[in-house]
Amino acid sequence: MSDATETHCPYCALQCGMGLSPADGPVPVAVVERPGFPVNRGALCGKGANAAAVLAPGARLTTPLVRVGGALRPAGWDEALGRIAEALGATAAAHGRDAVGVFGGGGLTNEKAYLLGKFARVVLGTSAIDYNGRFCMSSAAAAGIRAFGLDRGLPFPLDDIPRAGCVVLVGANPAETMPPFVRYLRELRDNGGTLIVVDPRRTRTAELADLHLAPRPGTDLALALGLLHLVIADGRTDEAFIAERTTGWPETRAAAMAHWPEHVEAVTGVPLPRLRAAAGLFCAAPTAMVLTARGPEQQAKGTDTVNAWINLCLATGNAGRPYAGYGCLTGQGNGQGGREHGQKADQLPGYRKLDDPAARAHVAAVWGVDPGSLPGPGRSAYELLDSLGTEVRALLLMGSNPVVSAPGSTHIGSRLRALDFLAVSDVVLSETAELADVVLPVTQWAEETGTLTNLEGRVVLRRRAVDAPEGVRSDLEVLHALADRLGHGAGFPTDPEQAFEELRRASAGGPADYAGISYRRIAAEDGVFWPCPDEDHPGTPRLFLDRFATPDGRARFVPVQHRPPAEEPDEQYPVRLTTGRVLAQYQSGAQTRRVAALNAAAPGPYVELHPVLAERLGIVDGERVAVVSRRGRTVTPARLTTAIRPDTVFMPFHWPGEGNANRHTNPALDPVSRMPEFKACAVRLEPL
Ligand code: SF4
Repeated sequence: MSDATETHCPYCALQCGMGLSPADGPVPVAVVERPGFPVNRGALCGKGANAAAVLAPGARLTTPLVRVGGALRPAGWDEALGRIAEALGATAAAHGRDAVGVFGGGGLTNEKAYLLGKFARVVLGTSAIDYNGRFCMSSAAAAGIRAFGLDRGLPFPLDDIPRAGCVVLVGANPAETMPPFVRYLRELRDNGGTLIVVDPRRTRTAELADLHLAPRPGTDLALALGLLHLVIADGRTDEAFIAERTTGWPETRAAAMAHWPEHVEAVTGVPLPRLRAAAGLFCAAPTAMVLTARGPEQQAKGTDTVNAWINLCLATGNAGRPYAGYGCLTGQGNGQGGREHGQKADQLPGYRKLDDPAARAHVAAVWGVDPGSLPGPGRSAYELLDSLGTEVRALLLMGSNPVVSAPGSTHIGSRLRALDFLAVSDVVLSETAELADVVLPVTQWAEETGTLTNLEGRVVLRRRAVDAPEGVRSDLEVLHALADRLGHGAGFPTDPEQAFEELRRASAGGPADYAGISYRRIAAEDGVFWPCPDEDHPGTPRLFLDRFATPDGRARFVPVQHRPPAEEPDEQYPVRLTTGRVLAQYQSGAQTRRVAALNAAAPGPYVELHPVLAERLGIVDGERVAVVSRRGRTVTPARLTTAIRPDTVFMPFHWPGEGNANRHTNPALDPVSRMPEFKACAVRLEPL
């Protein structure tokens, strides 16, 4: 691939390396293998292999749009930017600075996320900023900080996974969401290691497992407590590790011992012999890992649930040493970096806390402003969206599509419509952009350079491979132009490397320290793992080997108790609904639904249910059925499979309209992470 530009996939957090070669035709580049990049060694899934299709004219926006007389019409950049600046300024003047909101995305590059946070705090002076990554991994992040003092999705490189003796995947389906990752699981099995998958569905990933546990949605916490109970009862805890490297064990031990395995069997629906088998496999392995994804995390008790799994790792000595530990499989392309550099409601760059005076002073000095001028922490993503049209009157939204992806999406659509003013910066006319007063067409992955941080904490460099079409500008140019119109033009570079250099300084000394990472090093070293405090530092592929990032260097057990989902089945809504992704679509589908090959593979929504439930309800495979919850009604074809529990149905969430799964999902929030409960709610099915 000598003429190919080495870059990365636009989609998920694996950030597979790929090459882009010049091509003739409407799509200006072709995706080719990049076998030298270690994460995926050339392998790509269908989403990555077909990524170039979104570059084609017609698939994406190429001119700004402004709303006139109720309809969007093409406009020039001056008019579009002028309308946004005027509306944001007028809203702040009339209703106060916090009446202007900013909503970002977990797909934005580090440079964009950094400058978007700076734009909100310095130019707008608003606390009302958060991003859709809150819906992705915030519970795992909160749990990691509680236990280890630091959140990095995987505290070890992917290459460690095949060298663990046992891996437990909880609520993760990488065989569909990130297929090249499956290589690590196959190598684990080839090395004699065991794979346990915890999922209410027998997914493609579960098919690979030595043992599959299928708990009821929303009961993973009880399952983890039951496993810890069995480990303690069998005398398999690592007392030396607990004594030397942890705190809080007595309380956690007592909490686990109160969860009898028979009770756990009743709560989870997982038979006791399978619980015993899982505990046996986990303890028999010389080292073990637990990897969670959205299943246990997207719950109103997601943080406690993740801590329950971390407790299991700590009790068995599986943390802070090679080939062992807890990790989170982050979902969005820059879900990791996006939560480190300031677009989250409570954060400043470098994973600093907005309410920490020393952090405010450091970042304010880099920004050349008075620390006192920086606003305090704001609302979480759902709370911000829920306040639209009341407290927040004008919104700038960048790289997100909450009309499809937010929980209780009908309500969130109505809140977006209630705004005085909505501006959306996006590549395509998403369902959310269709509601905007101004839409800005921006460059995408292959048309711009920038860094992302993958699920391992490896900072990678996406390189520009083609020129953007005429009429399109970058998000960095948008922020610069808006800042300029609002009186702050300096400090918003349009060159991504210049933005990254400033990010390095802002992150220096923080938990996510990028000070030693440069574009040159990333290119030369296939990415650099943070923390990397100076240019001579090699980066940190493995965290916590000597000490955890807590004040005393010890990991913290967090005693947790099981509690049911916020919404349990009842007479009116007797079935559990859980949601997730399919192989050929990505998140809200804004890009992938525009790719013919992916639409052919996954053309639309459906509801998956067990034949036993279908027979009871008189539902036939392929027929359209209504799914009804307290929050809405959808109509979608039924898909019958024995791979799901008979008391549970599943809907993928990639589509808008009458099949939109998020019409049903419950915005009950986790008290720590403010994660909504996407993964468990109650519905009824009605044959049509
Ligand atoms: Fe892209 Fe993720 Fe597929 Fe890799 S696994 S090609 S990063 S979508």
